[in-house]
Amino acid sequence: MRTETTTSIDTRGDATPNRIAPRPRLITQGEALRAAVVAEKLAGRTVGLVPTMGALHEGHLSLVDAAAAECDVTVATVFVNPTQFGPEEDFRRYPRNLDQDMRLLAERGVDVVFAPSNDEMYRPNHATFVDVGPLGRTLEGEFRPTHFRGVATVVLKLFLLAPAQRAYFGRKDYQQTLVVRQLVADLNVPIEVRVCPTVREPDGLAMSSRNAYLSADQRGRARALSRSLQLAERLVTGGERDVKTIRDAMRQEIEDAGGIALQYIAFAADGTLEAVERIDGPTTVALAATVGKTRLIDNTLLNG
Ligand code: AMP
Repeated sequence: MRTETTTSIDTRGDATPNRIAPRPRLITQGEALRAAVVAEKLAGRTVGLVPTMGALHEGHLSLVDAAAAECDVTVATVFVNPTQFGPEEDFRRYPRNLDQDMRLLAERGVDVVFAPSNDEMYRPNHATFVDVGPLGRTLEGEFRPTHFRGVATVVLKLFLLAPAQRAYFGRKDYQQTLVVRQLVADLNVPIEVRVCPTVREPDGLAMSSRNAYLSADQRGRARALSRSLQLAERLVTGGERDVKTIRDAMRQEIEDAGGIALQYIAFAADGTLEAVERIDGPTTVALAATVGKTRLIDNTLLNG
C-alpha cells in the first residue's frame, strides 16, 4: 500500500504481473502532489495534467485519454472550486462522487488523482486572485462576473502544485480555454495547453456534469441547443455568411423548443472573443442558456 510520502508513480509501461498496488494513487495534500510530479520529471518522464471538478463523464475522460496517449504519467485533479461559483450558483449542490470518479479514472489508467479539501487549496488567509482582464469580463463573464478570476486562480495553483509539461482542457468551455492560454502566456507558465474536442451525447447535447440536474422534459428541450449549432453549421456550409441571419435562425430553433431562456449567442473569430458580423474565416459560435435552473453552455466551430 503506497502512502502520500511515496514519490514513485507506477506508469503504464510497468508490466509487473499480479500488481497489488492500487491505481490511481490518491493524493490530497498539495506538497505531496508537487513532490510526486517533480520526481516523475526528474526520472525523465512527461506528465500530463487534467483539471476537473469531478462528477466525471466521457468528456472528462476524453481529456484523460489524450493525456495518457501523449504523456508517460497522467494526473487528474478533482476539486469543486468554490471561488469560481457566484453566491447564487450551484456550488453546494454540484454533484460530488469521488469513489465513482476514482473507478472511472482507474479504468482509464490514470496514475495520480489529486482531490484536495477546500482548506487544503485555500488557506484561511487566502487573498490573491488572478485577473485575466477583458477576456474574463464578456460573455460568460457578464453572467458570472467572478467566474474566470476563480478559474484562473485555481488553474494557476494547480499548475504550480502539479508542474506538468502539458495540461488538457475541453473545447466545450471555449472561453475558459482562451482564459487559460492568456494566463499561461502572460505569467510565463511553462506548460503546454492542449484543447480537446467537445464530447456529446448521442443526440448531440454536449456532455456536462450539470446535465444531471435536468428533468426528462428539460433534457428533451435542451437538445435544441446543439441542434441550433448544427443549424448554424448547415447554413454556413450552404453559403450563408451573415451572422444576424444565422443568429436569428438559431434563436428561432431554441424558442421553438420552449422552456429555454437564452442568454447569448456570440460569434467570434476562432481563438478570440472578437465579435464578427460575417463568417469570413474560422469562427466560433458560442451560446449560453438556462433550462429551468440549469445553466448550459455549448459552442461549435464554423469554417467560413
Ligand atoms: P469541469 O469538471 O466541468 O470543470 O471540466 C473539466 C474539464 O473537462 C474542462 O477542461 C472542460 O472543458 C472539460 N469538459 C467538460 N465537458 C466536456 C465535454 N463534453 N467534452 C470535452 N471536454 C469537456
